[in-house]
Amino acid sequence: MKMKRLSKVFALLLCVAFSLTAFAGCKNKEGEARSAYAITAEVNTQDMTVAALCEIDYVNRTEVELSEVWFHLYPAAYRDGASFTPVTAAETGSAYPNGISYGGIEINGVAGGEYEIGGRDDDILIVKLPKSIMPSERAKITVDYKLKLPNIRHRFGYENDTVNLGNWFPIECAYEGGFDDSPYYSNGDPFNLPICDYNVKITAPKDYTVAMPAPATRNENGEQATTSCTLENARDFAAVLGKFQTVSGSVNSVNVNYYYTSDDKAEEHLKAACDSLEYFSNSFGAYPYKSYSVVQTAFNQGGMEYTGLVYVSDAARDKMISEVIIHETAHQWWYGIVGNNQIKHAWLDEALAEFSTTLFYKNNPDYGVKYDDRIADAMGGFTLFCELGKVSDTSMERSLGDFASSTEYTYMTYVKGQLMYDSLMKTLGEKTLVAGLKNYASKCAYTTAQPDNLIACLEQTSKRELKSFISGFIDGTVKLYSIN
Ligand SMILES: [Zn+2]
Repeated sequence: MKMKRLSKVFALLLCVAFSLTAFAGCKNKEGEARSAYAITAEVNTQDMTVAALCEIDYVNRTEVELSEVWFHLYPAAYRDGASFTPVTAAETGSAYPNGISYGGIEINGVAGGEYEIGGRDDDILIVKLPKSIMPSERAKITVDYKLKLPNIRHRFGYENDTVNLGNWFPIECAYEGGFDDSPYYSNGDPFNLPICDYNVKITAPKDYTVAMPAPATRNENGEQATTSCTLENARDFAAVLGKFQTVSGSVNSVNVNYYYTSDDKAEEHLKAACDSLEYFSNSFGAYPYKSYSVVQTAFNQGGMEYTGLVYVSDAARDKMISEVIIHETAHQWWYGIVGNNQIKHAWLDEALAEFSTTLFYKNNPDYGVKYDDRIADAMGGFTLFCELGKVSDTSMERSLGDFASSTEYTYMTYVKGQLMYDSLMKTLGEKTLVAGLKNYASKCAYTTAQPDNLIACLEQTSKRELKSFISGFIDGTVKLYSIN
């Protein structure tokens, strides 16, 4: 490895006088009023549609008067003619196993204001309020809509006997001086979502189990069954329908459920969910929800995170299943509890989810994965990618649309991000770094954190100036290798 630049940064880190990053804009908003969603949905598994009513008790959490409010309609990305498609051309074959299939969302009506469809890809619901709302005032908006599920192995869609309901309802756009109308990107997770409360009822044929992110009740009525739950302080709400087998355990009074379709090591994978939930709770602060659901389902990538519920691909095998579970469990802290704009700062959650997975293995040697091996693999892969591709821009801080490919996105956010934390740990020590991350999780819980919030928390705990060190990684000054 050629790490000349890195050595210089280490020297800088050790010599610089204290000038710590000010902590601003990430106060703990636990207890602050937030929007509440009541969703009633009926899934028709014959024609693969969902009829739904979404009642929103919207809270103006901005500092300005609002005359209209905007909501993402993510299912619109799956329609015929979408400009921003959910998968890249290279992934189309594996994502659509039975050929291209389209879905979408149709708005039947909105109560609580006039509406129009806008945004960069006709994927934003704009509701014009009859009366403007001031900061902290509320508006009641009800959206009657219908979903068409595409046959796709993705966040939203169906394949075989599983139905993924991810990003499936009108979800309020974050407000950052204006509503964030970012469209769907095929790279990464294109979300920037505020914390909300959810009360959700899903009716489906009774031979389906509905995996929920919170303890649920189920009532059968003839051939149908309705599954309901309440989830508060959540980054999003997802559910998965399937003909599952389940195994369950518990960690610190949290019910942990593994829903699977085919897995002869289900107990082992439940254990990975329980062990990682326990390790991350001990390291970063207690998991704050009542249950945790890991769901094996049709999915084109390894897995996907939602508050209280994660997908694990039914194509994952052997040790990869545990690794995906551990990574997605780490996201409960990095993305879920501590939110971030995953379009602008994808590295904030992905680098931490990946490095937290490596820390888990280090502290749970029974899993047989060595810390040094994972770091060496990351360094080897990153170097090879950069040298083969003659990559000159290794910045991590890029918008999802600015990465040339999903491979480049992965190397710059997950892999280089993990190497950045490894370098930090070699400098600060594991105990201090983990304490700094716990400080970050505590101070930024239930907010949308910025990179400077992370840096300020790590500096506060370590009593070291770290901004120049971290900035070198995220802006690409630190390359970790030299191009020959
Ligand atoms: Zn991830």
